[in-house]
Amino acid sequence: MTTKERLIYLPLGGAGEIGMNAYVYGWGPEGKERLSLVDLGVTFPDMDTTPGVDLILPDISWLAERADRLEGIFITHGHEDHVGALGHLWGRLRAPVHARAFTGALAAMKMEEAGHPADNVRIVKPRPETVSAGPFKVQFVPVSHSIPESAALIIDTPGGRIVHTGDFKLDGSPVVGERFEPEEWHKIAREGEGVRALVCDSTNIFQPHPGRSEATLADPLRELVARQEGMVVATTFASNVARLKTLAEAGVAAGRSVCLLGRAMRKMVTTAVEAGVLKDFPKLVSPEDAADLPRQNLMLIVTGSQGERRAASAQLSRGKYLGLEMKEGDTFLFSSKTIPGNERGVIRIMNALSEIGVELVDDHGGLYHVSGHANRPDLEAVHELMRPRMVLPMHGEHRHLREHARLAAEKGLAAEVATNGTMVNLTGEKPEIVEYIDTGRTYLDGTALIGAMDGVVRDRIRMALNGHVLVTLIIDEDEVPLGDAWVETMGLPETGKHGADLAETIENDLGDFLETAPAKVMADDVKLEEALKRVVRQVTMEEVGKRPEVTVVVSRLLPE
Ligand SMILES: [Zn+2]
Repeated sequence: MTTKERLIYLPLGGAGEIGMNAYVYGWGPEGKERLSLVDLGVTFPDMDTTPGVDLILPDISWLAERADRLEGIFITHGHEDHVGALGHLWGRLRAPVHARAFTGALAAMKMEEAGHPADNVRIVKPRPETVSAGPFKVQFVPVSHSIPESAALIIDTPGGRIVHTGDFKLDGSPVVGERFEPEEWHKIAREGEGVRALVCDSTNIFQPHPGRSEATLADPLRELVARQEGMVVATTFASNVARLKTLAEAGVAAGRSVCLLGRAMRKMVTTAVEAGVLKDFPKLVSPEDAADLPRQNLMLIVTGSQGERRAASAQLSRGKYLGLEMKEGDTFLFSSKTIPGNERGVIRIMNALSEIGVELVDDHGGLYHVSGHANRPDLEAVHELMRPRMVLPMHGEHRHLREHARLAAEKGLAAEVATNGTMVNLTGEKPEIVEYIDTGRTYLDGTALIGAMDGVVRDRIRMALNGHVLVTLIIDEDEVPLGDAWVETMGLPETGKHGADLAETIENDLGDFLETAPAKVMADDVKLEEALKRVVRQVTMEEVGKRPEVTVVVSRLLPE
């Protein structure tokens, strides 16, 4: 008996959150499907839930165990949440990586940084060029977004056509990169048997008005910069090359020299010029030369729109940076939107700048910033244009996915909310959930990759919240303490409520306990450790109202 072949979709990241995108498609007999992966991105840690963690990556264990069936990795665009994990995880997958030129250049850098040969990244031209990878025939279709050369993917399989939109917006004049071409999409929808499944960006499903073009920012930004008397500093995402160009042109139009601050931004512009996607970028001055210019003749474009502590905007808010300093009467423009979760960092910078006397300008409700994602009416237009048999919402938190599925269902399209780890069979009339895969998050912690559930970060959070007490005790051959227990505290007040030294108070109470401790406790390391921890926590609770993490080190002297 042969098992029927099926077409499957399995998000491993990006469905149920905004970040760390990773979507698996499969075609073949059940359990033997040949696989392809779309995107391999990261998400960023925060102090509350992931202190000390450097990056968060999708858990790709399921795919890594089936790496021999993986035909290719396809990267839709160069944002970190789509390509940022490639270098860290490619070693477990080892499949060819396909991307367009600019995205490919960024992907190759990720590979090289991680010590993998960059020639595993293969550059693909837009449709009609087609990549054949096992049963998949994949075409890259240019779409507009907030980074050049974004692509949607047409994935043709024996089980039908999938259109994976990637991140996109409907922009007829995106300043840099290709415009949205409705005629092309119309054609794609009507070739062969049409579109079986539309796997679609959900980020802006709650935005009720049609999205606005990047080009609408040019006039307001030019007028804003022209009005300013001091130095103008603007921040946006380093990868928003079109915005960098619009901002730089606004500076030049106001008779200012333009300087880019921040390594990521300089690298992005250089890469975009080299890949041929960025032309006619205004001439730049170096930070050294900028420091010698009169401030009214200067405009800085800087990294750190999300309040990142080490980026240029944070450095400038704290004082002199590379010889440049903000002063009263200068203007700081956030040509960006604060991503939820980053508010505190952004506000910290705003307050620091405010103290200096700098004028702060935010996006003014969209006057100085537009989103890179399709809004609700735009998504409706795409559903209409594609007329897919089914819609799978992706790139969104649960509430986004659910609302997007609802919108599709209202229009008579079969839709399913499939969050990370949900395997969906796309072969029938409507999407059918067939399996739940264990997924989670992987942390890059320093140089180590650890599982989110390994307990490392949990312990770190506990120590940070509760403080730490170390107890050392030596026990002699007769199971009697040799001297007193010795205590050291970290992250706790030095004195308790009675004014006595906290460590000493704990040592005294441990001494009282040890004097009367039963022999069977003294003889058993586990019991002794438990008992000592209990005493420490009782004392600290009484003295300072905290239950710290306790480490007990018992050394036993062996009989001669
Ligand atoms: Zn993106």
